[in-house]
Amino acid sequence: MTAAAEDTVPALATTRRLQALAVMGWPTARLSRETGLVLYRLMPLLTGAAKTTRREDARAVAVVYVRLSTASPGLCGVSHIAARTARERAGAAGWAPPAAWDEDTIDDPSAIPQWTGHCGTVRGAGIHERDGLPLCAPCADALYRRRLRDAAHAARTTTHA
Ligand SMILES: [Zn+2]
Repeated sequence: MTAAAEDTVPALATTRRLQALAVMGWPTARLSRETGLVLYRLMPLLTGAAKTTRREDARAVAVVYVRLSTASPGLCGVSHIAARTARERAGAAGWAPPAAWDEDTIDDPSAIPQWTGHCGTVRGAGIHERDGLPLCAPCADALYRRRLRDAAHAARTTTHA
């Protein structure tokens, strides 16, 4: 393994952390300043375009996440407008808030954000609906699979009738 490869890690957990902070209302410029990542490194991580990142950048984001995920942007000098802009952009992109993750899941590539406690199931989809949350992708998939099964079942039932 080359030195460069050793210094690179999958970007997923870093992306989850940055997106969760954006959902809270931390603006990109502030995240750049806090993490020390220049925008051309930060942006691909924030949007999920980057599949890998430098290990030191992942560590910097993890340290900043611990601090900012329990802080209030408004109480830390972020303007109301900047926070709202960050929240709206993150919301439109469907990014998951810190509450959807815990210490174990945020670093687990196979984990999905838990908006409902039952995400990835039809029950989870029902909780999204009950609470007025937009469907997350795993719940939308679960609902879609259920509808396909129901349609197949209905088709069989019709054939046998
Ligand atoms: Zn869900």
